Amino acid sequence: MTSVTFQGVVKKFGEFIAVNDLNLEVRDKEFLVLLGPSGCGKTTTMRMVAGLEEVSAGDIFIGGDRVNDVLPKYRDVAMVFQSYALYPHFSVADNIGYPLKIRKVPEEKRRQMVMEVARRVELDRLLDRLPKELSGGQRQRVALARAIIRTPKVFLMDEPLSNLDAKLRVQMRAELKHLQHELQVTTIYVTHDQIEAMTLAHRVAVMSRGVIEQLGTPKEIYNNPRTLFVAGFIGSPPMNLIDGEVSDGAFTSAGGIKIGGLGHSNVADAVLGVRPEDAHLLPGGSGKANVTAPIYSVELTGESTLVTVRAGDSLFTLRADKSFVGDFDQMVNVSFAPERVFLFDRKSQNRVD
Ligand code: ATP
Repeated sequence: MTSVTFQGVVKKFGEFIAVNDLNLEVRDKEFLVLLGPSGCGKTTTMRMVAGLEEVSAGDIFIGGDRVNDVLPKYRDVAMVFQSYALYPHFSVADNIGYPLKIRKVPEEKRRQMVMEVARRVELDRLLDRLPKELSGGQRQRVALARAIIRTPKVFLMDEPLSNLDAKLRVQMRAELKHLQHELQVTTIYVTHDQIEAMTLAHRVAVMSRGVIEQLGTPKEIYNNPRTLFVAGFIGSPPMNLIDGEVSDGAFTSAGGIKIGGLGHSNVADAVLGVRPEDAHLLPGGSGKANVTAPIYSVELTGESTLVTVRAGDSLFTLRADKSFVGDFDQMVNVSFAPERVFLFDRKSQNRVD
């Protein structure tokens, strides 16, 4: 049983607080993704688990043992870095087998294990090559193979797919997910890519400025964002966030968006959140529209058409059917699915419903 627990963990660099009172339990065998923008403290959190960074306050436990003072090599974690960190003068086989070599596994056994793991990541024909003779994707698989050649207590993966091209990234994503399922090793995975987070994670911890804004399953985070930051960070295209006010149970924006029947108290600085797939075009002359406004742009993505509409000063995007044909400045009626709109208070940044 290997959980990873953070209790009141703080990391300071001088006066700067990179991680602020982190409390989190990564469960045994869980795939937990730390998601957030550049500089929010993800890598620092990971490095503290690996022992590459000391904690300034608080405790970290791996499998119930407090590891604050345990040297990295005794923590039994395997890390995959964004940069791969391969040894340039070692062959692929020697890179993969290195963790076994330092553990003094006999050569024959080592060779056998390298072959096994190389087959799994489809590197078995490249074992004699040097890293510089490999593509980015192949190097990435060497780094992965080196991490999985033994079964550590925890995998730590820091943006391992970020150097790959889009196609390979999607392919490796599925492979990683499958591997983690098969190996059943507790995994902490860092990314700023929300699609990677949503597709890989059992749970996602959304980080901003050194704190966890929200922790939940991908579904919970997507369907129930608790703060403006989480609402705007998850989703592609992101949730529309439209400024306005709530009074007498109705939201109105300066651009003429009106949604009545809300059971909310008044909010002077309100933000309406609605995802592109929850805003719908209505047939002309429909009385049920929340706004009637001109089209700003139309983009065909393949499986759907993204229509951006200008309501006064604000733009919002909706996902229409791929067969939709519209022109610049054409007036459209738009309705928002009433059970799928969110209201936030600009001041507190929190949901008000
Ligand atoms: P990225 O996605 O860009 O890697 P991140 O979320 O992983 O970002 P961290 O690398 O954890 O962010 O850094 C968090 C903050 O701590 C940043 O503002 C960074 O500048 C700062 N920081 C990190 N390492 C150090 C250091 N050794 N000395 C001073 N400040 C640091």
